[in-house]
Amino acid sequence: MSDPKLLINGALRDGVRTMDVINPATGDAFAACPLADEALLDEAVAAARAAFPAWSARPIDERAALVTALADALQARAGEFSQLLTREQGKPLDQAGMEVMGAAFTLRAFAAMRLEPVLLKDDEKGKIVELRKPLGVVGAITPWNFPLMLLMNKLGPALMAGNTVVAKPAPTTPLTSLLFGGLCADILPPGVVNILCDDNDLGPAMTSHPDIAKISFTGSTETGKKVMQAAAATLKRVTLELGGNDAAIVLDDADPVDTARRIFQGAMANAGQVCVAIKRAYVPEAMYEIFCDELARLARVAIVDDGTRQGAQIGPIQNRTQFDKLKALLKSCAEEGQLVAGGDVIDRPGYFLSPTIVRDVDDDAAIVREEQFGPVLPVLKYRDLDDVIARANASDYGLGGSIWSADEERATAAAAQIQSGTVWVNQHLALNPTIPFRGAKSSGIGAELGADGLKEYTQASIINIKR
Ligand code: NAD
Repeated sequence: MSDPKLLINGALRDGVRTMDVINPATGDAFAACPLADEALLDEAVAAARAAFPAWSARPIDERAALVTALADALQARAGEFSQLLTREQGKPLDQAGMEVMGAAFTLRAFAAMRLEPVLLKDDEKGKIVELRKPLGVVGAITPWNFPLMLLMNKLGPALMAGNTVVAKPAPTTPLTSLLFGGLCADILPPGVVNILCDDNDLGPAMTSHPDIAKISFTGSTETGKKVMQAAAATLKRVTLELGGNDAAIVLDDADPVDTARRIFQGAMANAGQVCVAIKRAYVPEAMYEIFCDELARLARVAIVDDGTRQGAQIGPIQNRTQFDKLKALLKSCAEEGQLVAGGDVIDRPGYFLSPTIVRDVDDDAAIVREEQFGPVLPVLKYRDLDDVIARANASDYGLGGSIWSADEERATAAAAQIQSGTVWVNQHLALNPTIPFRGAKSSGIGAELGADGLKEYTQASIINIKR
């Protein structure tokens, strides 16, 4: 990407200053990101506000055609987007390619959705219809683990519902969002999408901005609470997709080796930096040894490398702050359990950790209680199913979870008792833009994706006619 620019009112603009973007595979700066200040934020919000009446009045099929054109343009330049995503985020190139294609797929899925008026009553006395209206300007705030995908999860429904957008990516992964801004500049009317970058300082100004009607936020639970607090003063609508501590519970009839392989993938995808990665595995006592041995074997043979290198399976940790947090957590793992694979920093430039398996840990160990957000999996033993379900639920988080079993009925009964927005059976991390995704407890408020996700970008309005 030659010269990254902000997108404000259809124009590609410089910021007030620049900030280095670091390649996590080398630790070196490779690009300069333009930064906005509050004055540029005000300009972007004013542009989005000015663009709203015409955009929301535009027939939905025309809006859908433009959202589809964005998907086409993204797909046509998938190679360029994937390379840039690997350089800024760290994930292996094939996984970056999957994120780019998934982002285009998400835009297409939303372009196909319609929220038709719902007839609630129609008789001789009267007729009642529920309509869905756009909200106005949406502020979209995204984290650094899936910068492109998570932006599309917000842009797709916001635009289809008739809103205009001011988006802000995470400071350590701004470049793919800015490159996408170039596509928006070519395809959309000025002001419909605006993209600004910051040094982690513009969030409060966005969430308290009087002319932003809704904040769609994906990030940590801690920041999500601040977003909700700041949004209260102007009664903004909020959707919060927050942290998780997903438990995978293996039932005693599951195949231990095959299940260990699939749980390993669910824990280590994107170097564990996934809101719905498997963050704790609960395994019956009778298969604990074989299960831990297989996980440790998989961790030892996994290829950890710069994502641009062919064969890389696990890339670096995305940024230094997260890397330092994980290093501290690894120390506590060594004290609170037994490391059977990994546990160390790889001696090379960049932010690389060995995939780590920790066994013989208690429920109160830091690695079990906290969201690690890295390639470190604790494996816990259990005897009784009811007891392990209670242990899995003893968390403030409630994002995802999974049950692994040869018996679908038994697994479904266990899944129904897990206090999470999504519980998978014999899989984990299976997301689809047409299926709503939401967090229970401290993992979020509201839905993203699916028709429910689209509704979150609208105001329901009742037309009540007396006959
Ligand atoms: P973060 O909360 O630190 O940052 C997320 C975004 O919020 C960034 O763009 C950041 O600049 C911005 N921000 C910072 N302070 C703000 C404030 N006061 N007001 C408004 N915005 C502010 O999260 P992160 O470290 O970038 O991402 C990792 C976290 O995100 C993990 O907890 C992960 O589980 C979560 N996550 C959740 C989902 C989900 O769908 N539930 C998806 C991906 C990541």
